[in-house]
Amino acid sequence: MQKLYAVIGDPIAQSMSPIMHNDLFQFYGIDAHYHAFAIKEKNLEIAVNGFRAIDLAGFNVTVPHKVAIMPLLDEIDPLAKSIGAVNTVVNVNGCLIGYNTDGSGFVHGLKSKLPSIVNKKVLIIGAGGAARSIYFTLASVGVGTIDLTNRTLEKAKGLSYDCPYEVQTSILTLSEAEEQLAVYDIIIQTTSIGMAPQTECKPISLHNLRENTFVSDIIYNPLETEFLKRAKERGAITENGIAMFVNQGALAFEKWTGILPDTNRMAITVQKQLGGK
Ligand code: NAP
Repeated sequence: MQKLYAVIGDPIAQSMSPIMHNDLFQFYGIDAHYHAFAIKEKNLEIAVNGFRAIDLAGFNVTVPHKVAIMPLLDEIDPLAKSIGAVNTVVNVNGCLIGYNTDGSGFVHGLKSKLPSIVNKKVLIIGAGGAARSIYFTLASVGVGTIDLTNRTLEKAKGLSYDCPYEVQTSILTLSEAEEQLAVYDIIIQTTSIGMAPQTECKPISLHNLRENTFVSDIIYNPLETEFLKRAKERGAITENGIAMFVNQGALAFEKWTGILPDTNRMAITVQKQLGGK
């Protein structure tokens, strides 16, 4: 019988996940279908019970359900537990197991671009949910240092305090980060600043950016944010949010099917959908 997978969120109509996963099922000859369901917060538990009833094979979870889903599952993977959010659920013989592939997706993409991340000096801009998953996962795999900067410093301090993995971290104001930008090998922009429709904004100035710094912006709409444009002008190696999106999807697909899919194919599918080349 055809297996069914899903993504749940609210809103969900804009999700690229169905087109990406359905293309993979077809490409790898797997008899399965992936569908997007708009689920209101008040209906989350009913939806999960429904998924149990129809024995849904697995699903992705997006805003606003990544935290609220956790008590409704049977098991949570330790990394997802420490991050405090789940984006992927696998149904193993009726047991729903929650994972977080957002941070590991980002790190997977990063490792494929750089020869090594050991001893690298990293700056994360932002301290929201995405920053949390990237910070904890990077700390768990080991890099040199990871500094955090955010508009609300208390949130950055909270992230550092909550991190269960040992890593050297300084908390910086946005202007302190701007001043010492040249010390970093990797800069990761995780705030929502620059996302459509307010595409002209950027979170910090890049006047001190060093050439050949690896600069990632996890936003993928637009494909090139103002922040990435400026970084490229200053000689940085840049990467947009498609890499993280595609890699979190690839790791979810692997958990469901045992196949680690072709991320280049996935990126092309998503890019086409977003109007890129
Ligand atoms: P979130 O939890 O709401 O965090 C938002 C972050 O942006 C916080 O650090 C917040 O700072 C900062 N911010 C928002 N508006 C700001 C402003 N006007 N000035 C300064 N800082 C501001 O959101 P999230 O879930 O982490 O998502 C953040 C971005 O990542 C979104 O654009 C989302 O689309 C993208 N994302 C991409 C992927 C991917 O796969 N590529 C995955 C997840 C998320 P404060 O703490 O000061 O409020």
